[in-house]
Amino acid sequence: MAFYKVTMNENEGHERVCLYNKGCNFRCIGCAYKVPNAGIGPSESEKEIGAKQIIEALRKIGATKVHFIGGEPLINADLIKIAEFAHEELGAKTAIGHSNGSKRIPDFIDEATVSIKAVDDAVHRAYTGMSNSSVLANFKDAYERGIKMKASTVLIPGIVSIKEVGGIAAFVADIDGRIPFHITAYMPVPDAGLRAPTEQEVGGAVLAAKKHLINVSGSALNAESFSKTKAMNPAFRSHRVEV
Ligand code: SF4
Repeated sequence: MAFYKVTMNENEGHERVCLYNKGCNFRCIGCAYKVPNAGIGPSESEKEIGAKQIIEALRKIGATKVHFIGGEPLINADLIKIAEFAHEELGAKTAIGHSNGSKRIPDFIDEATVSIKAVDDAVHRAYTGMSNSSVLANFKDAYERGIKMKASTVLIPGIVSIKEVGGIAAFVADIDGRIPFHITAYMPVPDAGLRAPTEQEVGGAVLAAKKHLINVSGSALNAESFSKTKAMNPAFRSHRVEV
């Protein structure tokens, strides 16, 4: 797996660069990233960009923040090399912007947001096709190594229940009750046979998580409101860098 896209955001008073990995090792039911032509994942024609080119681009930009996203960034063979350059040579803050947590979060990463799909392994296997044992172990390991961790999950009626979200929150709280936790409402994709949760259901999941954690948030956006939020939020206003 390789990076295929580099974007830059100059609206936050610093040069934040995002690197997009092509592909993901999970097979989640209802994954929007893998829906062809949905405009979320890469098109077939996207070319892969090597570590050398990316390092040159980061140096030229003078990136002060480097976020690795995907697909799934932790499966990228160049991740460690690029993170080391960004962190050690540029002095940039490095973050795993979002991840399924299936691999160890490498050194030279300051922050990571991991989506814990389910804490019940049977639910996790049914939903993603993979066990959650490494996800839970990697999350704890990263926290213990001093990486600033955030957790998230997706509430999906019929798959990830409010009770399950409460279980994920309890797992995170066992590590540190102050770790931020965000619950996202599932946004349906064609032919997956899944519905979005109601606002009340998202509220119920937030309450279930708040029994364990201090810092819990939830969002219940649909495709339209998500696009509007993106357009209004400077954090999303980025442009592609030709590498
Ligand atoms: S981890 Fe994310 S990108 Fe990967 S299959 Fe699941 S929903 Fe899709």
